[in-house]
Amino acid sequence: MATTGDPAADARESTAMLRTEGLVKRFGSFTAIDEVSLTVERGEFRSIIGPNGAGKTTLFNLISGALDATEGAVYFNGEEVTDRPPEKRIQLGMGRSFQISNVLDGLSVRENVRLAVQATRRDSYGLLESLFRPTDRYDEINEAVDRILEQVGLAAVAEETAAALPYGDKRRLEIGAVLATDPELVLFDEPTAGMSPEQTQETVDLIRDVLAEQSLVLVEHDIELVMELSDSITVLNRGEVIAEGSPEAIANDPEVQDAYIGGAEL
Ligand code: ADP
Ligand code: MG
Repeated sequence: MATTGDPAADARESTAMLRTEGLVKRFGSFTAIDEVSLTVERGEFRSIIGPNGAGKTTLFNLISGALDATEGAVYFNGEEVTDRPPEKRIQLGMGRSFQISNVLDGLSVRENVRLAVQATRRDSYGLLESLFRPTDRYDEINEAVDRILEQVGLAAVAEETAAALPYGDKRRLEIGAVLATDPELVLFDEPTAGMSPEQTQETVDLIRDVLAEQSLVLVEHDIELVMELSDSITVLNRGEVIAEGSPEAIANDPEVQDAYIGGAEL
């Protein structure tokens, strides 16, 4: 890790939840992400916004490990994870929203959450131990499942099949599946895509409630949602960070306003 010569700044860097350093992603000769360095502190809610094609999803994928960086580094919780696969990053405490298609329609809500808990528990026993201590393990898993169902407001429909859930509840189930991985940092790419204004507001409230203990990196095009939820905002344009700051500072930034002129939705 590079030092700045400022001990206070170095200490901050080493305890940051997430840090990217000079991240570059090229697709052939096209540079989708161009030298992006950002730091997300523990407990911080950071949104990444920008016009369509700015590179938001690509940056998200570099952070989660779904894509390999061409250049640069990703540090999570002080540890370099640049070359770690997504599963390893999840084990280390990076929770990423799963696509709706990952919700298993034929299973009940409870079974879906249970699968997510079992698949990703960082403190899970090894296979042998779990064979010898099934009761302890099941109690522990059941408690985790009940807690998550309660948190995301699905306890009352826990025994229904996932297929029968209305859209909003499916998104709750997805968020539940992220929580099941016991994350310290949660990554969401447009969690309210396709939602009505009411469902969007519900999701905002849910994210705020259930992620009180976590850090959040949110890619989102709904600017009202971003303004309401974020501690800080990073603005991407053509793969570069053009602004970073509080919601108020970003809303009043002339360069940000320019980037959105020309029909791109903010
Ligand atoms: P955003 O999420 O901000 O809308 P993306 O990260 O999806 O933007 O895309 C940024 C740019 O990179 C776009 O021009 C897109 O066409 C390009 N891009 C994204 N993924 C690929 C890929 N796998 N191959 C080639 N180009 C890509
Ligand atoms: Mg995108």
